[in-house]
Amino acid sequence: MAQQTVMERLEILADAAKYDASCASSGTAKRNSKGGKGIGSTEGMGICHAYAPDGRCISLLKILLTNHCVFDCHYCINRKSSNTRRARFTPQEVVDLTLAFYRRNYIEGLFLSSGIVKSSSHTMEQLIEVARILREEHDFRGYIHLKTIPEADPELVARAGLYADRVSINVELPTVAGLTRLAPDKSAGQIEGAMGTVKDAIVEARDARRKFRSAPKFAPAGQSTQMIVGADAASDADIVGRASTLYDRFSLRRVYYSAFSPIPDASAVLPLKRPPLIREHRLYQSDWLMRFYGYAPGEVQQATDAGGMLPLDIDPKLAWALKFRDRFPVDVNRAPREALLRVPGLGVRAVNAILAARRQRRLRLDDIARLTVSLAKVRPFLVAEDWRPVLLTDKADLRTLVAPKKAEQLELFAA
Ligand code: SF4
Repeated sequence: MAQQTVMERLEILADAAKYDASCASSGTAKRNSKGGKGIGSTEGMGICHAYAPDGRCISLLKILLTNHCVFDCHYCINRKSSNTRRARFTPQEVVDLTLAFYRRNYIEGLFLSSGIVKSSSHTMEQLIEVARILREEHDFRGYIHLKTIPEADPELVARAGLYADRVSINVELPTVAGLTRLAPDKSAGQIEGAMGTVKDAIVEARDARRKFRSAPKFAPAGQSTQMIVGADAASDADIVGRASTLYDRFSLRRVYYSAFSPIPDASAVLPLKRPPLIREHRLYQSDWLMRFYGYAPGEVQQATDAGGMLPLDIDPKLAWALKFRDRFPVDVNRAPREALLRVPGLGVRAVNAILAARRQRRLRLDDIARLTVSLAKVRPFLVAEDWRPVLLTDKADLRTLVAPKKAEQLELFAA
């Protein structure tokens, strides 16, 4: 077989990396400057957008070191039994590509993952070697996100964080039963053990740096994980519960939810259809409620139906409010922050603006209208100086009135 060029391998290994959502660039409309129109592209091969810890959107070179793999996870296009084109980079080649892209200002960092070759520890060593060469030999100060292999020697897992800004270990499936069925070579115990190792190392490094400024940093952007949604029978309530446990036990920065997408040459045990993309979006919204809006996991689970699924036509915050109507309306001129955050249609920024403004004067419905996208959605749930809704419990058709119209939803998920 003819030797593959670097560009051919880049094409294969960037494409193979796109299934990992841990540095998701979803939501961007496809644009390019082909034909001489405009400038720039959102489709650069292997380039994705991610959010840095300080909130900036950054471009990363997102590739695999290799898509050869000795494991056989059913949901993965790179699994041993898959009939996909294979390629491999050496650590030095990834370093050269990263530096070349960086110098041309195409990227601000690297997201590197890999299939497992020879052994988990051997692969982990290769991943670390890329980061080591970049940091030690080239004084690379860009962002590095390393995917960590849980089955590798814990010392290697811990070393990855000395070079990487962020490390991530995928839990893959929301339930242990799902993992056992769909990723037979992986073990939930090993995955959680590796996450524990990373968490401990992050805490130790932080403590050491409080005492000695010269102590080495360890994964300063923390650790994250990814769960595949819709490949097994786990309900949204299961996923919310699992995510909350992971946040608590391992102090994760993010849990990413990736709607299972049927892959070419798929295993027969997988569903034939992908779950609706909006399910992934509802899970991100529920995650947001737990992290920024003060909802306990049990409360988000209360927004699900009898089968444990979040409604697709309305967001989980609205679904919760409709179930617990007795908690509304909330008085925008008197209610505490926590109660305001529960009002459908009011985001954190709007609530902060309300709290600041009401120190000066009493707020009217017009003031709230300026802070929200949909006054129709907010209005039934609040009281303002010149507004008091009829009792929510009296309105049997409230759901119809506040649910977004079909056209609005289609527009939101038209990607
Ligand atoms: S370990 Fe599993 S998920 Fe990872 S590359 Fe190999 S087959 Fe894919």
